[in-house]
Amino acid sequence: MDDIRLHFYNTLTRTLEPFESLEEGHARFYTCGPTVYNFSHIGNLRTFLFEDILRRTLKLFGWRVTQVMNLTDIDDKTIRSANEAGVSLREFTDRFIQAFFEDLDTLRIERAEHYPRATDYIPQMAELVKTLEEGGHTYRSGDSIYYRISTFPAYGKLSRIRLDKNLAGARVDSDEYEKEDARDFVLWKAAKENEPSWETEIGSGRPGWHLECSAMAMSLLGETFDIHTGGVDNIFPHHENEIAQSEGASGEPFARFWLHAEHLNVESEKMAKSKGNFFTLRELIERGHDPLVIRYLLMSVPYRQKLNFTFDGLHAAEQALERIANTLRRLEHTPDAIDQGAMSLADIKAFLRHFREGLADDLNTAKALAALHTVLRQVNTALDSGGLSAEIKQALFGAFKEADSVLGIFPETGTSSTGDDDEIQALVEERTEARKNKDFARSDAIRDELATRNIVIEDTPPGPVWRRQ
Ligand code: AMP
Ligand code: ZN
Repeated sequence: MDDIRLHFYNTLTRTLEPFESLEEGHARFYTCGPTVYNFSHIGNLRTFLFEDILRRTLKLFGWRVTQVMNLTDIDDKTIRSANEAGVSLREFTDRFIQAFFEDLDTLRIERAEHYPRATDYIPQMAELVKTLEEGGHTYRSGDSIYYRISTFPAYGKLSRIRLDKNLAGARVDSDEYEKEDARDFVLWKAAKENEPSWETEIGSGRPGWHLECSAMAMSLLGETFDIHTGGVDNIFPHHENEIAQSEGASGEPFARFWLHAEHLNVESEKMAKSKGNFFTLRELIERGHDPLVIRYLLMSVPYRQKLNFTFDGLHAAEQALERIANTLRRLEHTPDAIDQGAMSLADIKAFLRHFREGLADDLNTAKALAALHTVLRQVNTALDSGGLSAEIKQALFGAFKEADSVLGIFPETGTSSTGDDDEIQALVEERTEARKNKDFARSDAIRDELATRNIVIEDTPPGPVWRRQ
């Protein structure tokens, strides 16, 4: 299957391009992380989950990965919220960083290699501003330092937005009145009362948000790296400004591929606290929703399409996951058939091919999931008609393990067992034994007990199988 090549839609070129890494066999990418002043909402997590799928897919296709995700622990929002809470910025952001990692674990999002905190990279940020100053890209106004966009002719190449010079009212950042040109943006904000600030060689103050990402990305990944990602709202001005800063300083291309996730809406509307349709992961879990169902739903729509989150959709995702778990369990607990059965190794290979082709097509998770559901239907049909050989079963479990290395949605322990599975399996076996011994009182009692636990037993030709209702 080496002929299947990974392709990504590159926002920079607006085309689907085959992916190549700069360093052979090593993919390096930067993902804009959370601003740590509150709990992640399901929109943020959709973007972080897309990045998890990206990471896992790169690994599936044989790359070693180095992923950096920054933690924005200083900006207007974190400062304001820490002041309101009456604690230091560090203490305040620590809490939400911890909560963020808990949310990642809940959704089985794999850890990146690096999680730099902006406040740990102040010297590197000051250094970057100094380089830009030396290159004539900046000016000072008050004690703040701004980027002069007119010195970077390629400005706008990512977003393809053309901002006219001095466009009336076109201030990009609402709190900046001191700019020469409406398009310019702040690199370094002068120290203010009630705000944390650092003494650096470029003066006393704190970094602007865009500067943070450029400095952390280049410190950890070098001047040029493979992929930069974020949500679509990051394209302009954040990523455009990152390019201006990084390429303005290094003279080298910054990221080669830019991937952006579309937003998530709730019941077709933009999420907003005022509309009552704003959900954090924690709130959904408190309402009794299974994190894996949420993971399934968030990945079921390819990342470049808007995702309309609905409670009906959540219910459908729950049913889809249930079907997957039932089939896996059935496959595991059905005795091996002597014959190969109604599936061949070629069918399993075809499944893996379709699965990979889906992901290779710009991480089309909908296609990959469709391939999984197709093969599971084949498995059910084969089990209905005489079962499968040990060899085929083993090959299927191998293929499922490979698929789940990207999807991350299969039940927790082993290949397909959850919680009380072993106990249920033991009861099912006891029932089989009782029937063999014609102890029908006992076998009926076991069936009834399982029924109260919503477990149905079906007696199929190769032996009894059970599933949850
Ligand atoms: P923030 O914590 O606001 O800096 O956002 C973290 C990430 O979530 C960024 O990459 C945003 O682009 C992304 N994001 C914010 N809102 C949404 C949304 N409704 N749907 C998808 N991604 C979002
Ligand atoms: Zn960023």
